[in-house]
Amino acid sequence: MLLGYRSRPLAILALTLIPLLLATTPGTASSAEVRRATPQAATAPAPARRFDGKVAIVTGGSRGIGRAISETLARDGATVVVNYSKSAAAAQETVNAIKSKGGNAIAIQADISKVEDVRRLYKEAQDQLGHIDIVVNNAGILPPTVPVADETEQTFDAVFGLLKGTYFSMQEAARRLPNGGRIINISSSTTRTWSPGYSIYAGSKSAIEQFTRSLSRELGSRQITVNGVVPGLTDTDMIESYPAAVREGAAKATTLGRLGQPRDIADVVAFLASEDARWITGQMVVANGGMNP
Ligand code: NAP
Repeated sequence: MLLGYRSRPLAILALTLIPLLLATTPGTASSAEVRRATPQAATAPAPARRFDGKVAIVTGGSRGIGRAISETLARDGATVVVNYSKSAAAAQETVNAIKSKGGNAIAIQADISKVEDVRRLYKEAQDQLGHIDIVVNNAGILPPTVPVADETEQTFDAVFGLLKGTYFSMQEAARRLPNGGRIINISSSTTRTWSPGYSIYAGSKSAIEQFTRSLSRELGSRQITVNGVVPGLTDTDMIESYPAAVREGAAKATTLGRLGQPRDIADVVAFLASEDARWITGQMVVANGGMNP
């Protein structure tokens, strides 16, 4: 549109002022500043890895989700204690994979369902590495899906035995972690789905969620955060016996249309372990692709 004679001085004033305003408005970079910033950014040193100097224990860190957590924490600088109970070869493979990428890790055998093993795990880790800053209580077993009417005492004791050891792992962490430490406990979406056949498993995971909330209140004054991650169905050995139709159904039940992968969970754990999550505690972070119960 052509400007009338009277509006022309205003237009000229605006055209003069806008570049000046852009150049002086806080937070708005002028094009000259952008040009100056680019080479600096390109030559700036890489930021320190977020877990440099930290030691992390990952229970059940040898396979599946635990392995992905171990690798992610180690990638970002942590020295990782890869705990396992039976799978020595898988634990060594995880340690080797971490070391081959320049990371640090050791494997320590300890059956988390035995309280004396839990205590030994922490003692050995601290004796060898000096301190423990991050604990991920990930070790888990999924018993066969059986209705309550047919359940066995043996299955109950196996699953709740592991729950007991997980509780005492939290106790060791509460005693040993320095100010600012991190505890992350792995739960399960079965705590929200009322799935038949999962009573013992879901019951034990519900207890883990409540341990998490209580402990977070006890450790807050030391700036230690305690959180849970709640995965949906995730593609690991744990679900290898699930028929294809069940896996496909589970994938379709998510909003994102696929099964979870171990990395999907590991990245959430790493976030909660990081300084970025310092204001989150006592929370359950559901990571299940938007699964509809
Ligand atoms: P996974 O592939 O079967 O691996 C389980 C890990 O836990 C292994 O490293 C295993 O080591 C370890 N473990 C089992 N019992 C142990 C014990 N008594 N002491 C020490 N370590 C023990 O299972 P996953 O799928 O990665 O599951 C990891 C966690 O996520 C579990 O807590 C599980 O309940 C939870 N979760 C899984 C899913 C899923 O769909 N996969 C969904 C929700 C939640 P060993 O072989 O040496 O025993």
